[in-house]
Amino acid sequence: MAIAEVDVDFQDTSEEAAFREEVREWLKANATPRGGGGDSLFSERDDDAEYLARSRAWQAKKFDAGWAGITWPKEYGGRGGTPIQQIIWSQEAAHYDAPDGVFGIGIGMGGPTVISHGSDELKARLLPRLLRGDDIWCQLFSEPGAGSDVSASRTRAERDGDEWVVNGQKVWTSGAHYSKWGMLLARSDFDTPKHRGLTYFMLDMESPGVEVRPLKQMTGGANFNEVFFTDVRIPDANRVDEVGNGWRVALTTLMNERMSIGGSAGGLGSTDIEGLIALAKTQKLNGKPAIEDPVIRQDLMQLYMWAEGLRFTGYKSLTALSKGQIPGPEGSIGKLAVARLGTRAADVALAIMGGDGMLHRADAEDHGSWQLSLLGNPAMRIAGGSDEIQRNIIGERVLGLPGEPRLDKDLAFKDVASG
Ligand SMILES: Cc1cc2nc3c(=O)[nH]c(=O)nc-3n(C[C@H](O)[C@H](O)[C@H](O)COP(=O)(O)OP(=O)(O)OC[C@H]3O[C@@H](n4cnc5c(N)ncnc54)[C@H](O)[C@@H]3O)c2cc1C
Repeated sequence: MAIAEVDVDFQDTSEEAAFREEVREWLKANATPRGGGGDSLFSERDDDAEYLARSRAWQAKKFDAGWAGITWPKEYGGRGGTPIQQIIWSQEAAHYDAPDGVFGIGIGMGGPTVISHGSDELKARLLPRLLRGDDIWCQLFSEPGAGSDVSASRTRAERDGDEWVVNGQKVWTSGAHYSKWGMLLARSDFDTPKHRGLTYFMLDMESPGVEVRPLKQMTGGANFNEVFFTDVRIPDANRVDEVGNGWRVALTTLMNERMSIGGSAGGLGSTDIEGLIALAKTQKLNGKPAIEDPVIRQDLMQLYMWAEGLRFTGYKSLTALSKGQIPGPEGSIGKLAVARLGTRAADVALAIMGGDGMLHRADAEDHGSWQLSLLGNPAMRIAGGSDEIQRNIIGERVLGLPGEPRLDKDLAFKDVASG
């Protein structure tokens, strides 16, 4: 699939403009404008009880006003809106203190998966609590030997009457330490080819035999975890879709993950170039404002051009969404560019700060958010599909290069070499 020629539309339609106005009015009346700095994606307060309580309260407030699940069907408490409305909401909410990050995996990826593939009983039991912010969900997909190729999962699920017994290990599970439910991809059949032997479950993270161990990141935080399962019992009622259909269900989760990452690129990225320019105006370098330094000026100009390129590529996705189409592989280009832009912007911010770049948190400029960004951005080049995987997608689907050889596609999983 090549990138289609699109007449890019930069304006809201009249319905979109009316929706934006409604969002603005509600946010103005109900949310606090965002203060400068300190609210980084990589901040360490995800595991802070006060932050979780504030997130739950904000989610409940949105739920009561009908903003909690903009694209979710009305029958599950959503608004029945469009992806473009979701993006408009995100663009407007970005100006406010809107702590909803901990619900992103559940509401953005897990809920839509259960809506598409879950039983009516499972939907009724889990979805309202998720949308109202009572429960947080996590994604139990990656394993030590199955990350980019998650279909190679080895965590074992064996049927025992009305229950399943699960043994194995997941890794890099964001938010597992505060999640009530995990979306678990496990192997229920080792005798069929790898994509056909997987089954998808909703796992109660408080079940006996689930052990969550934090992984410390170089930011100092521990937002993701290793999760071990020892004879964990899952009722068959928590199975999502048919036995052996787990890969198809997982693709729904992954498609929604890409849509939310693509959506943030469509939402014009999160790198604060204006903030960087403001920083260069206030910081001194070699006795003069950093903004007067020729090298810094060149760096700022380059970043500004990248950010604008990303913004206009984002408009392509927005235009496609606005017309009810699914955005094309430009999502992969956006993902690559967002990660690169964030890393480079943090580099430049620290160059602007000179020696002060070594300060931390409250001692540092903008509460240390640039330092956190420098340490946290490398993760963006891996999460949600690494740079190399995005390049493969662009190579195969945009440039039409030959696909990678996939030798294990038809082999029984137990015969696939591993290790
Ligand atoms: C911040 C963060 C949060 C995460 N949260 C979660 C989560 O909540 N739940 C979850 O399940 N997972 C999560 N992950 C895991 C993430 O999905 C994986 O790290 C990612 O898919 C890469 O897998 P891997 O780490 O096993 O690396 P591998 O797949 O082992 O890759 C190692 C290297 O080889 C390269 N590579 C692999 N295959 C190819 C190929 N075919 N062609 C070219 N190069 C290739 C990769 O690009 C990489 O450089 C998270 C990761 C991060 C960084």
